[in-house]
Amino acid sequence: MTVVVVGAGHGGVQAAASLRDLGYTDKIVLVDGQPHLPYQRPPLSKAFLGDSGGRGGEGEPLRAREFFDSHRVELELAAEVTGLRTADHHVRLADGRTLAYDHLVLATGATNRALEVPGTELDGVVELRTLADASALRGRLRTARNIVVIGGGFIGLEVAAVAAASSSVTVVEPQERVMARAVAPFVSDAVQRAHARAGVNVIVRTGAVAFAGDEGQVRRVRLTDGVELPADLVVVAVGVTANDRLALEAGMHVDNGIVVDPWLRTSAADVFAIGDCAARVHEGSPTPRRLECVQNAVDQARHVATSIVHGRGEPYERVPYFWTHQLDLRIQTVGLGSADDEHVVLGERDRDRFSVCRFRNDRLVAVESVNRPRDHMAARRILDEGGDLRVCDAKRDGFDLKEYAHAELGNKV
Ligand SMILES: Cc1cc2nc3c(=O)[nH]c(=O)nc-3n(C[C@H](O)[C@H](O)[C@H](O)COP(=O)(O)OP(=O)(O)OC[C@H]3O[C@@H](n4cnc5c(N)ncnc54)[C@H](O)[C@@H]3O)c2cc1C
Repeated sequence: MTVVVVGAGHGGVQAAASLRDLGYTDKIVLVDGQPHLPYQRPPLSKAFLGDSGGRGGEGEPLRAREFFDSHRVELELAAEVTGLRTADHHVRLADGRTLAYDHLVLATGATNRALEVPGTELDGVVELRTLADASALRGRLRTARNIVVIGGGFIGLEVAAVAAASSSVTVVEPQERVMARAVAPFVSDAVQRAHARAGVNVIVRTGAVAFAGDEGQVRRVRLTDGVELPADLVVVAVGVTANDRLALEAGMHVDNGIVVDPWLRTSAADVFAIGDCAARVHEGSPTPRRLECVQNAVDQARHVATSIVHGRGEPYERVPYFWTHQLDLRIQTVGLGSADDEHVVLGERDRDRFSVCRFRNDRLVAVESVNRPRDHMAARRILDEGGDLRVCDAKRDGFDLKEYAHAELGNKV
């Protein structure tokens, strides 16, 4: 028996590790197109970019090299998978080799979305997804004077937060507030205030229409309202698309990602998909939805490993959680909100220590915490263990999530 895992990111490495943890003794091949020992992505937009961060540009490994040897995981690095034949149960590598599988795990992640405006080819227009991107960006941050970040999502804002220590930084966001897709308006407000305090100029309801330069180097960013911002470094952070080409070309069901059923199985026999590249139907969302966070990739990897070792079992049902650190804000979210949710705010908004509880049909569906890790841990437990928190409970004077979890679910928080 052979399990081939395509993609040695957070999901792929966890899949290999979990297979061994569960007693799988046959062959595991973990393939990745990048040349580096598999590394963690979250630090790349945070500590790694600062002067004190990073380990000499190596990144934080997901596992030490010895782990792969001692667990007999055959690591194929700098080995892009270019083709998949599900009928024959094999994948093809760029160097012409083929790898046969009994089970295939697609953990191919995502690729940054390109911005379709003139001037993206200029020197000084960069993106951030990989260790190589982060190393290059770190070098440029040392000398850049005017930085424009295109996109007020969490990656763009994390870069802005680091860069603000040494440069003039502007964030340009077309929506009416930053991180609009991920968090409630109160949280966006806190983020915008924190960036303003740090001197970051956040411009909302405005997009970039062109980058202009001279002698091949970017110098200006032109905005939809005609304003031109000076820029010697532009970081484009406008979201990602799933790496689903292999699946698409193999004739599998793809819809904004590789579509999986509740057991994370794709439309092809013996092929699973996990993490950023996998799209599945979630409650409250009519179309398949992808999640882009470490927890989702890691927990789905564990689930698939269990299915391979023990057979089909339970459907995958974990409440997703996510974090971002920006300046003096530690933001943690759990659950999935949507536009029509009812909000109850706990804590002190004016001191940036609060949580937004989101309810749908009087059921708690998500909690977003700003500098309240205690709330976050309690909310994870309530949502994971099916606590039945209602709007009227949360609105009660002195209501406390941890105390509620303790009272309803027992003394474990
Ligand atoms: C800068 C940055 C900061 C982030 N910060 C946070 C954070 O604070 N918190 C959080 O929860 N999430 C964060 N994320 C998101 C998180 O990193 C992703 O959700 C997570 O990495 C998804 O894991 P994955 O295994 O699905 O994909 P990835 O970790 O992206 O791994 C996919 C791997 O597949 C490889 N691959 C793709 N196609 C092929 C192919 N054809 N052949 C061979 N190999 C292939 C790629 O090279 C890559 O190594 C951040 C992401 C970035 C980029």
